[in-house]
Amino acid sequence: MSDRTVAALSRSLALGKVSSVELTRDYLDRIARHNSVYNAYITVTEELALAQAAEADARRARGEHGPLTGVPIAHKDIFCTRDVLTTCASKMLGNFVSPYDATVVERLNAAGTVTLGKTNMDEFAMGSSNETSFFGAVRNPWDTERVPGGSSGGSAAAVAADLCAIATGTDTGGSIRQPAAFCGVTGFKPSYGRISRWGMIAFASSLDQAGPICKSAEDAALMMNVIAGPDPKDSTSVDAPVPDYTATLNDSLKGLRIGVPRQHLAEGLGKEVEQALQDALKVFESLGATVKEIDLPNNHLSVSAYYVVAPAEASANLSRFDGVRYGYRCENPVNLEDMYMRSRGEGFGAEVKRRILVGTYALSAGYYDAYYLKAQRIRRLIKQDFDKAFAEVDVILGPTTPHTAFKIGEKNDDPVTMYLEDIYTIGVNLAGLPGISIPAGLSSTSGKPLPIGIQLVGSDFGEARLLNVAHQFQQHTDWHLQRPEV
Ligand code: GLN
Repeated sequence: MSDRTVAALSRSLALGKVSSVELTRDYLDRIARHNSVYNAYITVTEELALAQAAEADARRARGEHGPLTGVPIAHKDIFCTRDVLTTCASKMLGNFVSPYDATVVERLNAAGTVTLGKTNMDEFAMGSSNETSFFGAVRNPWDTERVPGGSSGGSAAAVAADLCAIATGTDTGGSIRQPAAFCGVTGFKPSYGRISRWGMIAFASSLDQAGPICKSAEDAALMMNVIAGPDPKDSTSVDAPVPDYTATLNDSLKGLRIGVPRQHLAEGLGKEVEQALQDALKVFESLGATVKEIDLPNNHLSVSAYYVVAPAEASANLSRFDGVRYGYRCENPVNLEDMYMRSRGEGFGAEVKRRILVGTYALSAGYYDAYYLKAQRIRRLIKQDFDKAFAEVDVILGPTTPHTAFKIGEKNDDPVTMYLEDIYTIGVNLAGLPGISIPAGLSSTSGKPLPIGIQLVGSDFGEARLLNVAHQFQQHTDWHLQRPEV
């Protein structure tokens, strides 16, 4: 099977060239052969997958199917899955079996997807390299010495290595887009509120957003059609009409106004990434788009603001993991305080503890105004910069990351250089906007070819236009079809 996009798999399933059970066995087989190298999965749900596949085949036979029926999927281990281990890649939840499904999972199940398992990630989604996982680092399928990005690194690596057809991810500051860029796949973070957060373990609630990681913008549109839309269980999900995201994929780009942020072309951007961006702009111009430089004057403050807001929210969200209700509890506590201290001390990894400390500090009396309030003000300025830009342009195009995938261990000693990995993605979360990373080149300077991603950012709830623009790019380039040698 050479083309493993959902669009192609769905056609084969519809024509009866392959059954979902056969397809599922093929993926399970690939997982059995390759996962020991990539470590992309924490849990493989073979029995569940085969049962869902049989059910999907029966549904197809009855004519009760949609495009995703029978398509094998992997879920980031941050999504609660009923009767299946849900760890968030933490020792803290190392034995947690969820009693219910996240809304995203529930909707995909209802559409007939086949759950292959739960993917590895940075612990509680805190990281940019997938190295903070309690279950060990994930390896990038393009070069196993390198990171796949994070925090949805397992999902991105699994899609890139054909260990699933599509995957779910979450993005708080770049965790869908950055690993998609590092692994040469398409990663889409919708507007805040577009998709329900019910059953998605909370990191920073005002920033977290679920989204698809897949092989093409078309596949992302197919998945969005299933997962987008309001949910009575999440009061922050927005009650706005959900369009058919596939209906506008082929709209013309004539007259599309693309803005390129001056600040993204400045110091710090790798040469090859910049070249890929320039080449992409030429493709868009040939399709009838116009390009102009725009300003995002406060973008350089986004990482600092994020690293106050996100840890502050995380420190509150993670207070529920106390060794009492569920999750890890230390052995033989001598008293209540000892139980709290040791359960949290032993259950959380170093990066999670760092965030809890920073967040608790920023929220404490006396520091609240100096840090938290200031960060919220910067957040407002960043949003205003985007609003101003979108008065002049339809989409914003820039790099997803400054460089291609780095080596495992390379950035571990210095959290700040790791945090700067998200300099182009974090502002988008602070502003609540949709953003998509698509493959736009291959770097050739490090021995093995490494994917380069570019990011398109849309205005509030402008998902359909973004997917249209990304799809048109993919109709006229073949970067998204490049695969690593597995
Ligand atoms: N890398 C960022 C962080 O560590 C973003 C993570 C995310 O989007 N979940 O917080």
